Amino acid sequence: TIKLSQRVQNIKPSPTLAITARAAALRAEGKDVIGLGAGEPDFDTPEHIKQAAIEAIHGGKTKYTPVDGTADLKDAIIKKFSRDNGLEYAANQVLVSVGGKQSFFNLAQAFIEAGDEVIIPAPYWVSYPDMTLLADGVPVIIEAGQENQFKITPEQLEAAITDKTKLFVINSPSNPTGMAYSLKELEALGEVLRKHPNILIATDDMYEHIYWADEPFCNILNACPDLYERTLVMNGVSKAYSMTGWRIGYAAGPAPLIAAMKKVQSQSTSNPASISQAAAVEALNGDQSCIKTMLAEFKKRHDFVVAELNKMPGVDSLETDGTFYVFPSIAGVLENKPDLNDDMDFAEALLVEKGVAVVPGTAFGLKNHIRLSIATSEDNLRNALIRIAEFIA
Ligand code: PLP
Repeated sequence: TIKLSQRVQNIKPSPTLAITARAAALRAEGKDVIGLGAGEPDFDTPEHIKQAAIEAIHGGKTKYTPVDGTADLKDAIIKKFSRDNGLEYAANQVLVSVGGKQSFFNLAQAFIEAGDEVIIPAPYWVSYPDMTLLADGVPVIIEAGQENQFKITPEQLEAAITDKTKLFVINSPSNPTGMAYSLKELEALGEVLRKHPNILIATDDMYEHIYWADEPFCNILNACPDLYERTLVMNGVSKAYSMTGWRIGYAAGPAPLIAAMKKVQSQSTSNPASISQAAAVEALNGDQSCIKTMLAEFKKRHDFVVAELNKMPGVDSLETDGTFYVFPSIAGVLENKPDLNDDMDFAEALLVEKGVAVVPGTAFGLKNHIRLSIATSEDNLRNALIRIAEFIA
């Protein structure tokens, strides 16, 4: 028998990818399944971005690049941070990686020691706790429920901090809740963090551009510029430009941390695909109107889906600030259906009985909820909602 490492036994496969695979398998068996599990835009990558990649192929940009990304792409990222976020970085403060996923993986490997605590607000993106575990760190979960708009309070943060706390992760707008922290809320969290100078802050801004709240998008550095020396900003082109398959994410922060993360990457994947990097340059430097087009569509679907969900007895959904997810409470449904113990039962039964794939909230660290992705056609959404309503009735 093969004896696997304890490290790998400590983690589980990504539950969101598992649901998507399960829905695809049922579909392959001939079942009529509507997938609301996937975390990716349903739009094609914009044409001008594809063209840049085709030109890169024909132009021979098909070799290794510097590990941390081409000069052109790093330049485009530096300009992006300055233009969109008012943040200034030098080239040695930027690392391009194989998706936002690798950015956080590099961070965990470069920064976390065995036993270090990583504070992760729940509901969380599924990879933070498991990547922390892969680095032998200890995830410390702070739960933020719907009554608090799924956002943690400064008091909760303070209470979670110990002398072992090494890292605080914040994701806004959030996968899975769609909620974003306001400037004021970030200032209040920053006030707590200021009292604990040894904690590094990682802000995951992946959904920056899929955002429709009144206040302009901001992250913790906009709220607390004095935290610049200990904040890592993570972002990427996957969601904003519908480029999930191209695998380009990036991080910016303190030069020594970026250098260490680059070292990890140099011993794992080396550079991200050269052609994808060329496409990402065009995404960041080129015409930005594609973002608006997709945003308008997501907002329209959001309004429809939230309204329909809230018509269902026992379902309660907030209006979100952005992303392409909604994260309704199904607590009322579970109360009325004694045969369903929890959100995992709910998701399983919904898939088997009605052919609708959603992700149970438990996968994100908050039970009694489900996550629906609205990154699918209006027809699909309409049909899925009819089926969910039937299922609940
Ligand atoms: N961060 C968050 C919050 C995400 O939801 C995702 C993707 O699901 C990522 C990072 C990683 O994105 P990528 O596809 O670029 O690895």
